[in-house]
Amino acid sequence: MESQKPTYDFLYSNYAWPEPGTERECPYSGIPLQLNEQRPGYNGKPWTCPKCIWYFSEEELNDPAAFKGKDCPHTLEQKAEAIGKK
Ligand SMILES: [Zn+2]
Repeated sequence: MESQKPTYDFLYSNYAWPEPGTERECPYSGIPLQLNEQRPGYNGKPWTCPKCIWYFSEEELNDPAAFKGKDCPHTLEQKAEAIGKK
């Protein structure tokens, strides 16, 4: 039987991870972002907005101009749904 030793190295996210204790704000809603734990098997981005339910990378957050004047895509979906339910 082959060893079941997990090979975690390549399972880590490819995104750059911020230093622990770093604080960021959602470029859409302005509320503090949640820093996700960097752990094996998690391939997502480091930041989550609990309000927008949206993920952000450090790279994206370093370019706030890209978000200027835009609504969170999740918020837009909710708005569209709300209009559809009227
Ligand atoms: Zn947000």
